[in-house]
Amino acid sequence: MPELPEVETVRRSLLPYLPGRVIEDALVRHPKVLVFPDPGTFARQLRGARFERLERRGKLLIFHLPPLVLLVHLGMTGQLTFRDPSRSDRPFERHPTTGLQRTVQHEVDSHTHITLLFGDGCAVHYRDIRKFGKWRLFSQDHPRLGLELARLGPDPLTSDWQWEPFFRTVRGSQRAIKAILLDQAVAAGVGNIYADEALFEAGVRPAIKGAKLSARRIGKIFSAVPSVLAKALANGGTSFSDYVDADGKKGSNQEQLLVYGRYGEPCFRCQNELERSTVAQRTSTWCKVCQRT
Ligand SMILES: [Zn+2]
Repeated sequence: MPELPEVETVRRSLLPYLPGRVIEDALVRHPKVLVFPDPGTFARQLRGARFERLERRGKLLIFHLPPLVLLVHLGMTGQLTFRDPSRSDRPFERHPTTGLQRTVQHEVDSHTHITLLFGDGCAVHYRDIRKFGKWRLFSQDHPRLGLELARLGPDPLTSDWQWEPFFRTVRGSQRAIKAILLDQAVAAGVGNIYADEALFEAGVRPAIKGAKLSARRIGKIFSAVPSVLAKALANGGTSFSDYVDADGKKGSNQEQLLVYGRYGEPCFRCQNELERSTVAQRTSTWCKVCQRT
């Protein structure tokens, strides 16, 4: 699932293409991912709308097309790519250093649910195999827009990530620390991958209750979260299956992960076999030796 670094990589890769561009038409092929409004209203409102800015909060992409605001959540398998028919990319190629196969500028297929068309033949395609993504289009003053944004807590890669409220939340919680980190109101943009990586960095097991952690350990988690996210962002995100940026390129952070997805393999630090357990209905991978707290 795309988490903060992947969504930020998508945002940055769309930036050269979108600002200033005017939407000619919006095609909705599968309405499930369009939460609001209905497809007819969506297309009518977007025709003639001009992209001004593209922001991100947590895992949410926020497209500003005054007076409209488009919120896109990529869900589990959402891909947002920019298609320029004048570019002569081959459909598949191998990344020169990672050897990973990458898809470039995917063509419309049965999983391409929404397309935004521009007058010059370019387009933004939204492809989502599992269809858990969510698109919502509001006017700037719509009360639901404020509600959606108010649900998101601080983004760990911004100055909103503050020690005092984080410490109070963790210390006051009977939930497992993994569940606390996955709460988008606590750390917007953290998902299963980076929660596991941050807890390994901090030496804390995923199931321990927040209230049982010392201030020193909470401090380690507080600094590990932005540090694992920033490292993943520098690597263009983690690509396991479907995640690609706007140019269809895969990230390379999967080669840098210390615990996530490595159950049964030896820990890089102590060689002990990594454990797997279910915390907050999610699979956690961790090291019994390195994460003793
Ligand atoms: Zn270990």
